[in-house]
Amino acid sequence: MPKTPSMTLDKWTNLAEKIEVGKNLLYYKQSAGLTFETSKLASFERRALEHSKLFLKSFGKEPRGLFLMSADALGKAKTFKFQVKAHNVRSSKIVSNKFKLQGAKVNWGSWRQFTAQTDDSKARKELYDDFIGKSKFLTPLIEARFNGYKQALAEYEIDPLSLYLEVEKIAYERLISFVEELGSALKPTFRAALEVYSKEILGEREAEYYDDFYFFRSRVFRRYEKELPTKYEPVRRILLTMKQMGLDASKVKVDDSNRKKKSASAFCFAIKVPSDVRICYRKSNPLENFSGVFHEFGHGIHFATINAEETFENKYVVANGVAEIFSIFFENVLHDRIYLREVLGFPQEVADDIVSRFRFNELFFVAFYSANSTMKLRYWKEGLSMEEANSLYSDLTEKYLGIKYPGRYWQLHHVMPEYFLYSPSYMMASVRAYELANLLRSKYGDRYWNEKRAGKELYELLSLGGGIVVDSFSKLDARGFANKLKEA
Ligand SMILES: [Zn+2]
Repeated sequence: MPKTPSMTLDKWTNLAEKIEVGKNLLYYKQSAGLTFETSKLASFERRALEHSKLFLKSFGKEPRGLFLMSADALGKAKTFKFQVKAHNVRSSKIVSNKFKLQGAKVNWGSWRQFTAQTDDSKARKELYDDFIGKSKFLTPLIEARFNGYKQALAEYEIDPLSLYLEVEKIAYERLISFVEELGSALKPTFRAALEVYSKEILGEREAEYYDDFYFFRSRVFRRYEKELPTKYEPVRRILLTMKQMGLDASKVKVDDSNRKKKSASAFCFAIKVPSDVRICYRKSNPLENFSGVFHEFGHGIHFATINAEETFENKYVVANGVAEIFSIFFENVLHDRIYLREVLGFPQEVADDIVSRFRFNELFFVAFYSANSTMKLRYWKEGLSMEEANSLYSDLTEKYLGIKYPGRYWQLHHVMPEYFLYSPSYMMASVRAYELANLLRSKYGDRYWNEKRAGKELYELLSLGGGIVVDSFSKLDARGFANKLKEA
């Protein structure tokens, strides 16, 4: 039974927003490589934790979104120490004694960069096997964090899986069969594409476990690493495209300077919704710049368009399976032949080639994330041990990728051990982004990204924030999405 509220809900959300904004700004500075006071961040984290506790004590389980948010925050705070330890282990223990990159020993953080640049298969295999062996240093930390989070939630009669499913507004059976259907439907298409690109990249040899998604994903685009045949610059281009749809992203601040401590990958932070939204990226190769900027601007326009009058909940609690829809939607215009030719001015053969390479990456993504998603869903559903999770993961990679990975690979991933669930959200968002584009295409034609009316429909969805009803444009139809990739 909830106790008598010691403060009103209005007062609670006002203060919650202040804490959120203060915390967001410091995390932004951290990722952007700017100076900030770590003690200030720790103090905001403490305040946020106390404030979540206050919610649970004063209001109990309603409003539901705030309850889920508070329980999650509490669970995260209680297990934060394991996350910090895992970060340290990754840079201190997951280190190669043999291979170097730009003079420094390759570690967990530079692994992908090494992989993308190294054509010597033996060297990549040796490093991979070495890191798989060293993942044993991470295992107890991941296990302790997952268990700790589960225990913290149990105090509020909820478990990690139910919390996730409730935030994503989907049932377990529906989600796991969606993943299974998508992964199985596309496996033959993925295998055929993998054969084509393996021939190009690996020669006679077939792809193996150490030729992972991240290797192929960057390696297939090597021919465009130096330059792209376009006179446009990504930030100006996406701003123009959005403007043509009647969407105003000019308030979104962009930081493209090259600071040493700045995160290597692009990111978007909504510090205060909708008035302070910032995107940060480091210029790398031209195609990655385009993809990263278009993706992050999808997040940017989303946060910047959320109605300021929306509830705290709808402004700050947006499920991942919703938040990624609009980022993927805008990133996907770069997978559109007409956009590449007419808007970016690519010659036909370049546009065709780029589209088929993106398609291969998309197929690889589905195969890989089908294994990732299924493992995480079943891990929580069946209460698996770390050993059982590894062995299940190994079987799932064989099932969806046709390549048996060492089971512990998931522990070295950047998303799988870091988030309690997350992976299935990315698959849901991909399908929904496709369904949204398809709907707009059917109503406004192939050049819907040039249409004010399409932009207006988008605007109406964006402005709702977490209050969006995805069923209005999405059936989460695995088959439709699979058919698109089969036919492309
Ligand atoms: Zn994103």
